[in-house]
Amino acid sequence: MKVLVIGNGGREHALCWKLKNDSRNPEIFCAPGNAGTAELGTNLDLVATDVEGITEWAKAHQPDLTVIGPEAPLCVGMADALEAEGFRVFGPKRAAAELEGSKEFAKEIMKAGGVPTSDYAVFTEAEPACRYVREKGAPIVIKADGLAAGKGVTVAETVEQAEAAINDALGGAFGEAGSRVVIEDFLVGEEASILALIDGEHVVMLASSQDHKRAYDGDTGPNTGGMGAYSPAPIVTDAVLEKVRTEIYDRTLAELKKRGITYKGVLYAGLMIDNGQPSVVEFNCRFGDPETQAVLIRWDDDIIPAIEACIDGTLSEELINWKADHSVCVVMSAGGYPGSYEKGHEIRGLDDTADDAIVFHAGTALKDGKVVTAGGRVLGVTALGADLRTAVDNATAAVEKISWKDAFYRKDIAHRAL
Ligand code: ATP
Repeated sequence: MKVLVIGNGGREHALCWKLKNDSRNPEIFCAPGNAGTAELGTNLDLVATDVEGITEWAKAHQPDLTVIGPEAPLCVGMADALEAEGFRVFGPKRAAAELEGSKEFAKEIMKAGGVPTSDYAVFTEAEPACRYVREKGAPIVIKADGLAAGKGVTVAETVEQAEAAINDALGGAFGEAGSRVVIEDFLVGEEASILALIDGEHVVMLASSQDHKRAYDGDTGPNTGGMGAYSPAPIVTDAVLEKVRTEIYDRTLAELKKRGITYKGVLYAGLMIDNGQPSVVEFNCRFGDPETQAVLIRWDDDIIPAIEACIDGTLSEELINWKADHSVCVVMSAGGYPGSYEKGHEIRGLDDTADDAIVFHAGTALKDGKVVTAGGRVLGVTALGADLRTAVDNATAAVEKISWKDAFYRKDIAHRAL
């Protein structure tokens, strides 16, 4: 069996690892992949959003299954193009991926479907947007409508910050993605993430997790793509999960269906939970990164049967069972991230960590036979433990064996839950 994975982050290395460990032992191809995926299969010199190039490769090599990792290829219609050629694809089509591709579309669906989320307004001109913010007051949240790699969101603590964020976005800081801004009421509570598999009809929620978006310890510093995650997240009780299923997933899918849109793939709900009531902060149309690393390591069964069931519309809870262990993923980043950072530093100590953790590569590359840094988030060091404390200790033991020039990581991942 041949499986093509599209993407090059820690999430894709984790997906390749889980797929490779499936009892069907597939041959793995990753477009474009990183130094970690190169150890599990063949990296392809193709850009993840290159719909034409990837379709041509698929026609020539006939993968039995294609798993699309990141949002960018989904939002440009990668699944549509491959399915049109008869390939079996895991990931939503473009119209369904709009739940992530346009925050305005997501809000519209949620409001129409009665899904709990904050109130909002949308603007294309700075003047009325700033007037709205002055009327509403702070804190308030300003978001570029389109994809901005996690950088298009400002949680403004003052009206001045909000106005600056509006002017930035509408002034072109995020290109076309910021030509519309969504202004949302600020939600209070604790954040958690739920990933669910959806086959067009059935929803199976995966184990809960919580990620850490801020760059520095104590949830301070700028927002990042995510500095670590752990699973399960104790804030997500059974009662919360039931509300997530009925009030969030069921209502969202029903509203999409009314508009003729079928959702197949992963739907990630970023939640704010306040007094046991979850509200949606954001939808993503794919696995989260680094939540995926923390969740997949706890997934006890083969993954291919669940993915195939998603494609075939036969998804059921029995296909997915979880290890009782807790998991922690600590992201090791390049010094300076999420601002500017250097690349090309040799990473040492990777071979010494096998007893403690699985090291998922994100921004890495192979250079002269050595693994070097090639991105902001470099590694996701992911460990299991019988309890959360043990998982944290195991991840920490592995992290401390790895080094490169200016590496940094948060030392408090999962501490809120301890
Ligand atoms: P990602 O990188 O996960 O795709 P994104 O750019 O889509 O992120 P959001 O997840 O919408 O952005 O927002 C980023 C963060 O900002 C959230 O994790 C949350 O901490 C905060 N945030 C967003 N919206 C709100 C809100 N309405 N109230 C309070 N905090 C919010």
